[in-house]
Amino acid sequence: MPFRDLIGHERPTAILKAALLHDRVAHAYLFYGEDGIGKRLAAMRFAQAINCDTEVGPDGPDACGACRSCRQIEALTHPDFLLILPDQEQANPQIKIEQIRELEQQLIYRPLVGQRKVCLIDEADRMTLGAANALLKTLEEPPAHSLILLVTSRPFALPATIRSRCQSLRFSAPARTQVEAALIMKREIPPADARFLALVTEDRIGQALQAELGSTRAQQDEFCGLVSTKSLQSVTTLLAAAEALHKTERAPEALEWIGRWLRDLLLVRVGADPDSLVNLDRLSELNAAAEKVQPGTLIELLDEIAALERAATRNVNLQLALETILLRLRDAVGAQTIAASSS
Ligand SMILES: [Zn+2]
Repeated sequence: MPFRDLIGHERPTAILKAALLHDRVAHAYLFYGEDGIGKRLAAMRFAQAINCDTEVGPDGPDACGACRSCRQIEALTHPDFLLILPDQEQANPQIKIEQIRELEQQLIYRPLVGQRKVCLIDEADRMTLGAANALLKTLEEPPAHSLILLVTSRPFALPATIRSRCQSLRFSAPARTQVEAALIMKREIPPADARFLALVTEDRIGQALQAELGSTRAQQDEFCGLVSTKSLQSVTTLLAAAEALHKTERAPEALEWIGRWLRDLLLVRVGADPDSLVNLDRLSELNAAAEKVQPGTLIELLDEIAALERAATRNVNLQLALETILLRLRDAVGAQTIAASSS
């Protein structure tokens, strides 16, 4: 798969292709940007492109995706390619000094078949201090045939001494239209579902490609049901739901979906483009609820949810927090008056 199959990232890939074309490839690059947008994939493509066996075509140097070298890099069996990842077995995954020693061993030798020995370090910010110091030594005097690719969503967690020895390439989330187009093409799903998944994953293409459509729609049904005017009328329903969600450890999931609903209400309230609504398929319900609620209240509730998400690892009583938010939403949309007048 060549560079052009990446979703977005035109700028960093153009820089990489230019470096290949003019034979000015650096010894180390830092690919940084948000999680799940395709940085590691771009680094894999670059490793393939530099070692690709196929003759350069009219579009300049690229990975053909089909030659032996490209396929071996993809399968992680290429003798000149090493992928280093944090040890996922641990509660706090780290890249250890032994893994960097392995990299050093790899880089001592000239490439066996390719142009360069390539080492890709994913989640490079998870290197221990010892590992980072060991890597720094290699970066200070890189072997002529070596190429080190660091990938991270937290560049500032890396020592400045390492960052300064890499050429930095910033990756940003591709535009929503690009994410949607990719989902329609690669997953063969209808445009409305593609738009929905792009919005739910906030345009993180990696997540959007993997998200289970059926279960995501089921979550949407469940939590939109919870914040529906009908459900908000009954305090008993709300309290029981908060308790049940807390017991099954689904309070964070509930808060996430309530947040999406509140943002939709706010967007409707300010007259935003309906295409930006996660719950577009519930537009009439959103319109009805948005009429009753003050934007200021929505913003307050969204701030509270954001604060809860930040505090998620600390000892917060999520059941109480969920109850409070649901009851405040009930007050905000005036569900209690509907309940009183209908009884
Ligand atoms: Zn190739």
